[in-house]
Amino acid sequence: MRLIDVTVPLDAQLPTYPHNTPFTLEPIKRIARGDSSNVSTLHMSAHSGTHVDAPRHFFDRGAGTETLPLEMLLGRTRVIALDTRKGITDADLTPFDLSEDVRVLIKTSNSRLWGSPTFQTGYIGIAESGAKYLVEHGVKLVGVDYLSVEEFRAPGAPAHHILLGAGVIVIEGLNLRDVDPGVYDMYCLPLRIVGCDGAPARVVLRRS
Ligand SMILES: [Zn+2]
Repeated sequence: MRLIDVTVPLDAQLPTYPHNTPFTLEPIKRIARGDSSNVSTLHMSAHSGTHVDAPRHFFDRGAGTETLPLEMLLGRTRVIALDTRKGITDADLTPFDLSEDVRVLIKTSNSRLWGSPTFQTGYIGIAESGAKYLVEHGVKLVGVDYLSVEEFRAPGAPAHHILLGAGVIVIEGLNLRDVDPGVYDMYCLPLRIVGCDGAPARVVLRRS
């Protein structure tokens, strides 16, 4: 069984979206300091590293991460690769037959940005027309390979509003560098954080 871990490590190299809380481990107890055990406190944004967005991220009355259905977070998933250098539009997605797919992960050059602890503002997001295309073609879960589905500082955040508004689950912060396009079984398990706008997730693909 070949498993591909597409989760980015939570460590000091992890870039942080501007004005979000960076990931850090705070030592609370340390054996080396005479304590009986090692205990750390996590400091991080709910949108650190590989994570899911809940509707509440952009809608005050929207559902929190704990309501995202497991049936949608696990299962047959298509990975497509795009070589676009700009926001992903409907024209970029048209060549792909997504008629059998409710889960789509989009691999771009973003996957090569991981490893730099500096947030890269030139990452590729999904443009408004691309988000509409995915909704209109029945996609229920979409994953991207940098820290936001949105083009950087896109006015009005159309991708988030269109996708989350349609009940589409958004996974952000995937590393798809080692993943070839094709069909996989996906295991995406976000932490069961009640009422939260986002939740860190471990995401693994298995070739189906
Ligand atoms: Zn997010």
